[in-house]
Amino acid sequence: MDFLVLDNIPFPIDPEQLYKNLKIKKGGELVARLNHLVDKAQAIGRPKASYKAAFIESRGDDQVNVEGVMFTSRVLRVNLEKAHRVFPFVTTCGLELEEWSSSIDDLLEKYWADVIKEMALRAALKHLKEHLIDHFQPGKMSRMNPGSLADWPLPEQRQLFALLGGGPASIGIKLTDSFLMVPIKSVSGIWFPTEESFESCLLCPREKCPGRRAPYDPDLYERKYRPK
Ligand code: SF4
Repeated sequence: MDFLVLDNIPFPIDPEQLYKNLKIKKGGELVARLNHLVDKAQAIGRPKASYKAAFIESRGDDQVNVEGVMFTSRVLRVNLEKAHRVFPFVTTCGLELEEWSSSIDDLLEKYWADVIKEMALRAALKHLKEHLIDHFQPGKMSRMNPGSLADWPLPEQRQLFALLGGGPASIGIKLTDSFLMVPIKSVSGIWFPTEESFESCLLCPREKCPGRRAPYDPDLYERKYRPK
């Protein structure tokens, strides 16, 4: 299957939630400035996603071959034990918001624009997951992202982008020489079907991470991923 693009993604912003996230008092003097920014972002924002459905061809101890592209990660390998079909993907806040935010000089408004771009990215991720569930009925899914664990480091972006072909470029995502994505508010990875839900945070000891989605489980690697 070739890559597909989703570029008509709803991007709702709940102002109440945004005021709360930014600790801005309703009715305060900053609200009008923020509302102006939100209106502009919603007028131009086009979050996007690209993905493909791909089949696993073979597995080693710490490697998985997906349609001729070899990924090296023990955790990915174990997580894909029962999977046959996976969904490599990229999502982004979109170049429209990226270019708009880079034209803002005011530091406070730049920070707000960053938070809005993050919301656009989250909307793209949520939309893609719902799309995959609607179209492929994969059952429960989890995802892994290159660079979120030492076990699956950032340079594996090269393989992921190779597998996705022209998908990332078609939605304006570029990979730098250090394997970071531009726009920076982009997420890449592989969605896979699994009965047992997985988050990289379970294996990540980083303290006080604002993005943590699950508590660190210090025994999990030994229990589940250490080769016997
Ligand atoms: S705890 Fe934070 S740094 Fe670690 S995997 Fe989760 S989001 Fe990433």
